[in-house]
Amino acid sequence: MAVLEVLRTIEQPISHGEMAARLDQRGWEPATLYRNLMDFAEAGLVRRSDLGDHVWRFELVRGAHDASAHPHFVCTACGGMECLPVIELVMPRGKAPRAVRQRRVEVHLRGLCDACG
Ligand SMILES: [Zn+2]
Ligand SMILES: [Zn+2]
Repeated sequence: MAVLEVLRTIEQPISHGEMAARLDQRGWEPATLYRNLMDFAEAGLVRRSDLGDHVWRFELVRGAHDASAHPHFVCTACGGMECLPVIELVMPRGKAPRAVRQRRVEVHLRGLCDACG
């Protein structure tokens, strides 16, 4: 419940390390928190994204409109990640790999965030 509560209050996806830091005072094992996050992701309550640095970042799946993943902006300097509104990608018919057609992909836009740019 504490893990879900943290995810409910954050605006942007956070890593397991950031989650562990936020719940530091409660004295839980980081491995337990990691299992929780993975279980929630498995159950579809939480979405996990990899920016390409092999660190999973987690966020709550919010409502039915959020079922197809929204894109994320990733800062190439500080590694910060922001949620972006849902956009529509138009693909020529038959040109896209199966994962794209089935929407099992992540869309990341890269650049400098306001603080770094
Ligand atoms: Zn930045
Ligand atoms: Zn997001």
